[in-house]
Amino acid sequence: MKIAFLGLGIMGRPMASKLAAAGHEVSVWNRSARQHVDGATTAVSPADAAKDAEVVWMCVADTAAVERVLFAEDGAEQSLREGMIIADSSTISPSATLRFAERVNARGVHWVDAPVTGSKIGAENGQLIFIVGGSNEAVEALQPLFKAMGKLVIHIGETGKGQAAKISMNLMIALIYEGFAEAFVLSSKLGVDPHKLIELIQASMVRSGVVDYKAPFVLRRDYSPNFPLRLMHKDIHIMLDTAKENRVKLPALETVDEIYELSSEEGWDDLDFAATLGLLEKWAGLGGQPK
Ligand code: NAP
Repeated sequence: MKIAFLGLGIMGRPMASKLAAAGHEVSVWNRSARQHVDGATTAVSPADAAKDAEVVWMCVADTAAVERVLFAEDGAEQSLREGMIIADSSTISPSATLRFAERVNARGVHWVDAPVTGSKIGAENGQLIFIVGGSNEAVEALQPLFKAMGKLVIHIGETGKGQAAKISMNLMIALIYEGFAEAFVLSSKLGVDPHKLIELIQASMVRSGVVDYKAPFVLRRDYSPNFPLRLMHKDIHIMLDTAKENRVKLPALETVDEIYELSSEEGWDDLDFAATLGLLEKWAGLGGQPK
């Protein structure tokens, strides 16, 4: 298929590579440098990338970035034609998704929200899980592309439901990690060997994929970004805004947001979100300044 791929960050670059490697005709665009992807052509603007495309696939930072790549003067909207599909793997606001979809639907263009889970490693290995909202017809048409980049597609429902499920899932990741971090710091202060704590967690009913993934990094205090703190913080704001729009109260998340706020003030935005543990260590007098 002919694909315009917009956004070549931690996730977008390996995703675009997988599409090109699978034999699709890919035209890539990125806001700043880092534009080249092997096997793909490089476009000068989102509109240029989209001009002959059947599918416009986005993986950019946030809601404002999606708005920019689609609707700015040189945005992909300029090149939309009836029957095209826009697929969005950015994690953005569910309500903004509905607004954007309505605007392109008026041009006969389908919108599929397809945020992902699996992080940097999943993108590099083509093992992402896509959390999808859209019509059966459009989701079906994208199957070969999902297959090139991922291992599983969960079609949650109509447009917007992919984003709704994704932010709800990330809410759990933020809270589970915070629970782990607090347990880790308290037990460390009490003199428990961290390796033993993790052995206990993973043998018991509190075992967790989040701990499986993050514990080896935490033990080495390696906070190089797999999922940068600034992006989880952005997601927390989407969750809190969405909760407010829908009259839902999220008290635990509001507290976790404060931890992210303070971590951000420490200058840790570009570290992995696992670095939030450093703040608890600092408060406990256990060091905790990420390198
Ligand atoms: P990233 O490495 O920070 O890349 C962000 C991308 O968005 C870059 O291509 C960046 O361009 C572009 N961008 C940012 N602001 C823009 C704007 N105003 N206009 C145009 N382009 C803009 O982020 P990532 O880790 O690839 O994440 C991308 C999306 O996937 C995010 O929504 C994130 O929440 C989601 N996600 C990430 C992970 C993960 O583990 N990393 C997992 C699941 C979902 P520049 O290169 O010019 O800065």
